[in-house]
Amino acid sequence: MVQRIDTNSRQLLSGLRDIMAEEAEGQTRLDKITALIATTMRCEVCSIYMFRDAETLELCATIGLNAEAVHMTRMRVGEGLVGRVARTSRVINTADAPAEAGFRYMPETGEEVYSSFIGVPLQRLGETLGVLVVQSKEARQFSPDSIYALEVVAMVLSEMTELGVFVSDNDAMAARHQQAAIFQGVSGQEGAAQGHVWLHEPRVVVTNPVADDPHFEFERLEKAIDQLREGVDELLADAREDHKDGEHIDVLKAYRMFAHSKSWVRRLEEDISRGLSAEAAVEKEQSAARARLSKVPDPYMRERLHDLDDLSNRLLRILTGQTGHGDMQMPTDAILVARNIGPAELLEYGRGLRGIVLEQGSVGSHAGVVARALAIPLIVQAEGITTEALNGDHILVDGDEATVHLRPDEAVTKSFQDKMAMHAAAQSRYAAIRDTQARTKCGKRIHLMMNAGLMADLPSLENSGAEGVGLFRTELQFLTSSRMPTRDELRAQYARVLDAAGDKRVIFRTLDIGSDKVTGYMKREDEPNPALGWRAIRVALDRPSVMRMQLQALLRAANGRPLNIMFPFIAQLSEFRDARAELDRAVARETKFGTPIHEANQVGAMLETPSLAYAHDALFQEADFLSIGGNDLKQFFFAADRENERVRRRYDTLSLSFLNFLQHIVTRANTWNTRLSFCGEDAGRTLEAIAFAAIGIDTLSMRPASVGPVKHALLQTDLREVRDAIERAAQTGQHSARAEILKVIKG
Ligand code: PEP
Ligand code: MG
Repeated sequence: MVQRIDTNSRQLLSGLRDIMAEEAEGQTRLDKITALIATTMRCEVCSIYMFRDAETLELCATIGLNAEAVHMTRMRVGEGLVGRVARTSRVINTADAPAEAGFRYMPETGEEVYSSFIGVPLQRLGETLGVLVVQSKEARQFSPDSIYALEVVAMVLSEMTELGVFVSDNDAMAARHQQAAIFQGVSGQEGAAQGHVWLHEPRVVVTNPVADDPHFEFERLEKAIDQLREGVDELLADAREDHKDGEHIDVLKAYRMFAHSKSWVRRLEEDISRGLSAEAAVEKEQSAARARLSKVPDPYMRERLHDLDDLSNRLLRILTGQTGHGDMQMPTDAILVARNIGPAELLEYGRGLRGIVLEQGSVGSHAGVVARALAIPLIVQAEGITTEALNGDHILVDGDEATVHLRPDEAVTKSFQDKMAMHAAAQSRYAAIRDTQARTKCGKRIHLMMNAGLMADLPSLENSGAEGVGLFRTELQFLTSSRMPTRDELRAQYARVLDAAGDKRVIFRTLDIGSDKVTGYMKREDEPNPALGWRAIRVALDRPSVMRMQLQALLRAANGRPLNIMFPFIAQLSEFRDARAELDRAVARETKFGTPIHEANQVGAMLETPSLAYAHDALFQEADFLSIGGNDLKQFFFAADRENERVRRRYDTLSLSFLNFLQHIVTRANTWNTRLSFCGEDAGRTLEAIAFAAIGIDTLSMRPASVGPVKHALLQTDLREVRDAIERAAQTGQHSARAEILKVIKG
């Protein structure tokens, strides 16, 4: 007959706490715990299996199985019932273990005589650390209550493991998160950095998972939940008042829904009634939700579970009073680790960071733009990094390979340091040629400018050797602020830029907002395809007030000095004419106010849509200059979203079709003597820069850190050889000229 067993988890937990309170070695504690569980559950066997590495579980303690098997018996994830619990993170509860699919007994343990089996995953924050197993000879079906009790115990054990209380001299059970780990992400900014982890949102540490007085814990939970709900309501009210966009409000509404979820609160109360403290209950449910999260394929549902995760963190902070980093000081060699981060927050860290690793994020994100402006190596999409990394961990960030080494061993650190030394040597080579003009071996002078958009960029104008700013992205000031900057703030910023530049030319691009560049305070249109939508000059011409304010601010900042103004995303001649007419009107107005105006301001357009390459000749005559925005132009040329990591790399900038297209633009610009430059990201890549120079683009604007390497390469290049290489690639039917160009550069 199958017997039902109920156990009292409170009794188990208080026994557990007594064991923890005793002075004892880690292994001794574990042994006592297995004995306690077996006795309380009236079973012969209790065992604890822990992960030794990502694939292997090891028997770490047992009562009932052969003692010699401890630290000897190992199995792979998925192997046997224990392995199955570890792989699926699900409980197995069976009265007849040998009849279960996948059952496999380990002869050295002597477990063949046990019939019933219950295996519960040891989980923390959704990560499975091991498996807790109870077995008995008698065929028993454990009641849901017993399973619950074991889950609660498993939660406490996991928490203790994290705190390192089972660490033994013989390394029987090392604390988690001490082994080396490697993450492969996507590179947002090249470069190498070594330092120590600084978590943007440090994890809350639950030091008292067990509680004696459930009523007191109920009260604490209730108060904390009230505070949480009030906080969410305030956030929502503020967001409405600030006219935040619909998506922002939707997220907060989902927060509120979770905060009021009866089933969530009921589960928390149930956990407390089993003997957990309020914070341990929150963490137990959070962990279960995270485990579900990793298995949910639907992105919408995943987002919602992320919301619940955020909410749990808020509640944990309220309950524990742990906000931020407490007294901890940010290390001087901090590498920021975060799930995601906004540009304004990143700017607050500023140059105090050596590197940034994000679990989410994208290369084209605003945070990416800021990281590049600060010249800090950035890796995005490093999945799992926020669970694995602990504050203060040693970390190596390889922005070239998009690899993160967490807690690396000596050999890895050594070879990484060699790489950093090579980088440093290259940097000093570039510093040595900083004041040298970029002139190719065949005598062609190429002008190297830098892209900028933040005050943080300005020192680079001096340090990088750039001849000026070929693209000043004015939207960054809008994107990094929580409200619309005033005209006077804009004027002050532009004046500072011009002051810093001195005689060097600065090309200000008027606001390029929309598509991926969205501010919280400017109403966002819900568009099915924002990259092709209402953005940049389209917005500016339809709603000219912001551009008018900007033009005014620019004219006032220049105060008689020469200005270079460029309009973004011009797709046809009429748009350029309309934008220019706005500028003419602003000049007329400012003249009336007595603002001195330079007589030869230069006005140009970004060439970012293929249509403009075929615009009427008048465009080439009327624009003082054109700048190819390769990031956008390339995405439209190949119909491949620049933000989509899957398709972005599929098409080569050096493909002959794209080079032909660029050549066509060069020819047209030459016909009308229109100054032409290239200011997309590709201008900063050595091979691409050389190819652009070879086809006749003599001004390249790039991120400051690229000026040195590109100049170094140009000084050693004979462009005639590169042109021949392109020609050869075309004649031999290659789709890209990359291989041929590489040959002449290396050769
Ligand atoms: C471009 O599109 O190449 C460009 C320089 O503009 P942005 O990257 O700001 O869209
Ligand atoms: Mg663009």
